[in-house]
Amino acid sequence: MSRRLFEKARRLLSQEHPLLPLPDFKDRRGGLSIALAYLNRYYTAMSNLGFQAVYWLFNQEPGTSCQRVFLPDPEDIPEYRRTDTPLFSLESQQPVRSFDILAFSVSYENDYPHLLTMMDLAGIPLLRKDRNEADPLVLAGGASILMNPEPLADFVDFFVIGEAEETIGPLAHSLRKGREKGLSKETRLHDLAGLEGLYVPQFYDVAYRPDGTIDFFMAQKDFPPRVKKVWLKDLNASVTVSPIVTSNTELSNMLLLELSRGCRRGCRFCAGCYAYFPYRHRDAGLLEKAAVQGKGLAEKVGLVGAAISDYPGILPLGRRILQEEIPLSFSSLRVDSLSPELADLAFRSGQRTVTLAPEAGSERMRRVIKKGFTEETILKAVEILAERGFNTFRLYFMVGLPQESKEDVKGIIDLTRKVQHHALVRSPGKKKAERITVSLNSFVPKPTTPFQWHPFDDLSGLNEKMKWVKEGFRKDRNIIVTADLPKWAYLQTVLSRGDRRVGKLLLTAHKLGGNWPQAYRSVDLNPDFYVYRPRTFEEILPWDFIDPGMKKEFLWEEYQKALQEGRKG
Ligand code: SF4
Repeated sequence: MSRRLFEKARRLLSQEHPLLPLPDFKDRRGGLSIALAYLNRYYTAMSNLGFQAVYWLFNQEPGTSCQRVFLPDPEDIPEYRRTDTPLFSLESQQPVRSFDILAFSVSYENDYPHLLTMMDLAGIPLLRKDRNEADPLVLAGGASILMNPEPLADFVDFFVIGEAEETIGPLAHSLRKGREKGLSKETRLHDLAGLEGLYVPQFYDVAYRPDGTIDFFMAQKDFPPRVKKVWLKDLNASVTVSPIVTSNTELSNMLLLELSRGCRRGCRFCAGCYAYFPYRHRDAGLLEKAAVQGKGLAEKVGLVGAAISDYPGILPLGRRILQEEIPLSFSSLRVDSLSPELADLAFRSGQRTVTLAPEAGSERMRRVIKKGFTEETILKAVEILAERGFNTFRLYFMVGLPQESKEDVKGIIDLTRKVQHHALVRSPGKKKAERITVSLNSFVPKPTTPFQWHPFDDLSGLNEKMKWVKEGFRKDRNIIVTADLPKWAYLQTVLSRGDRRVGKLLLTAHKLGGNWPQAYRSVDLNPDFYVYRPRTFEEILPWDFIDPGMKKEFLWEEYQKALQEGRKG
């Protein structure tokens, strides 16, 4: 056992400030115990409102105690292995494998390999078929699970297909009952599979055709043929706020407060919009009260939502919070709902950098993805911001969008230059924008969006497109281009659109210490099958068994409209 690792955990704990009441974690007698694991390290996890909210919700359940577990920092992993220290919870430093439930909060597909690392460090067999009654039941939920849990189906006993507020109560009740009665795992899973929004993969069979596509996906016995996504109808029924603030995280000492869920805009690429459909928002009074409660404990309030500037009462709410002398933090602002008053509010909060998401460089591409605003609107927003003194801009773009041409990619360079010009002309004293960061991201077509049928752009094409943009600004020191690595976007596509067979790839990569090129070569699976192949409407997609509350026909129509827009030129 490593004393250093335990001391580090205690230090992190001592630097946390609870904003909401939490139980005494030393007393674990009798109740249902849950180890809630985030697939990334503490620094990242504690800035994730979804993870924090689930932690609080589990701890509100009677007879239930939930503690947190994180992916160890990279430098600590060898220490775990060297000292034979099993992965442990933060609060009471108990081994994860001693808990009844190991629940993974999953936000991003590229974190899936961490699930295997964490189970390995915990000493829990990775494959569900190898686990026995003494091992915890393994659960997973979160944004990417809502879209497609199948690549993790060999490792996870059951999945939550829905929002935590609606699922945690019935789920915890069923687990407590099973524990009290000493029911077998099989019986407990059987009971769970009957609950809305829960998916137990062992009760569903899949068969494949010779061409590799799915022949059928079938529920055994009387389990529902499709798993209905459950969602919170009335957002005012609960306020989603971070129960803990800490300085040891990306959003340091920030109280996170959710304004809205989903988005009414329907951009065709947007997983946040489709996975959290339909759009809902909270009453301003509730939000104001929650923000004020954090006064004195948090240094800032971070407003969380898919499109913050679309929130109907954003101005009065922001002003009231500022009156309490609590600075606000706005994430990305949508250009077509950015008013001079909102820009003033952000500036008065101390914000000097603003993130705008044109997503694409040309009007044509923005029509294809249904972004819904023009270049004129983008430049108008830049002027509003520059006039108020904002001098650092982050522009978010995707490359590899459906039907994208070289001209569309060059449009990113042209638009950025125009942003630079308009910021200069409108800034007080005609000062050049201090810095414009162009963030380039490879487009990954996500399940449950209209682009779920569309192939990923090829790797060499993506690398070349990113190179063009970087070349375009080579001589300008005020414009910085940051670009993701398309090879990781390729992996993300495999993991987000894969079926159960992708589990073999994850397991192989884990055994090879994360050597993905070798893993791709070692398994009898062609990853390109999931990445570059266009799908037909008739094909059974791995996530079709989820009923997202939106018809597949609607998504297909949206996809066809996008292709038509692209053909218009
Ligand atoms: S406005 Fe933003 S959050 Fe809303 S659908 Fe478009 S990209 Fe998604």
